[in-house]
Amino acid sequence: MDVSTHKDALLRKRSEILSAGAGAKPIQSTEGTSSRQGDLADQATGNNEVHIQLKLKQTDAKILQAIEEALWRIEQGTYGVCRDCGEPVAAARLNAIPWTRVCITCKEKQSAG
Ligand SMILES: [Zn+2]
Repeated sequence: MDVSTHKDALLRKRSEILSAGAGAKPIQSTEGTSSRQGDLADQATGNNEVHIQLKLKQTDAKILQAIEEALWRIEQGTYGVCRDCGEPVAAARLNAIPWTRVCITCKEKQSAG
């Protein structure tokens, strides 16, 4: 398998998340001061935006971890192998989610509980 395409996609996604995370920091730092500006008309809107940012950050952190693992597996030569069953992960799935750890069969088993 040619992993260089997937590696490029992983590195691109990682820098995307890291730069988005850097941009989110100023929003977090203003959260504490917003209560002192209680008469601002758009305060509620601002709080909603903070919540959305935090949600995105949690998801990004998980993806970031998965990307790091995927890059490590590329180095080890085990990239594209399902972590659970050891079978190769379908190329279409890797193209869609290059940081995935498991094949679609195992993923569906996980969802089923
Ligand atoms: Zn599997």
